[in-house]
Amino acid sequence: MASTSLAEIKCAKCKNVYEANVVDHIDLSEDRDMIKALKAGKANRVQCPKCKKVMYLSRSVVVNFEPENKIVVYDPSARTKAAKENLIQDFHSVISFNETLSEIGEDTEFLVISKLDPLKSMLDEYLKQHR
Ligand SMILES: [Zn+2]
Repeated sequence: MASTSLAEIKCAKCKNVYEANVVDHIDLSEDRDMIKALKAGKANRVQCPKCKKVMYLSRSVVVNFEPENKIVVYDPSARTKAAKENLIQDFHSVISFNETLSEIGEDTEFLVISKLDPLKSMLDEYLKQHR
């Protein structure tokens, strides 16, 4: 299952603030049904309970390309090199504090992507490799 957390959302239409479950982490080996939405940039769909306005959030999602040793952070806001490097640093500091993760981390490729197109190609490639 994709892991989710509760986030505070402000409706773009009526400015109502509400809480909704958002997807933080997707494991492709388990969450195949999410791939289509992910490719469309619609992994995070929320709906305002007041005016029913649907929004697709552009927040970061961690995609684990199981069983490949590849983790991709799709973050539409990480447009600069510095922002991407920050995310990679965060990743390395998180895994260095955790023994299990640091073992995994050593041979795991970690990428930060801000554009949808490269993510789409990776997902297509993944689907080809792991039917
Ligand atoms: Zn609303």
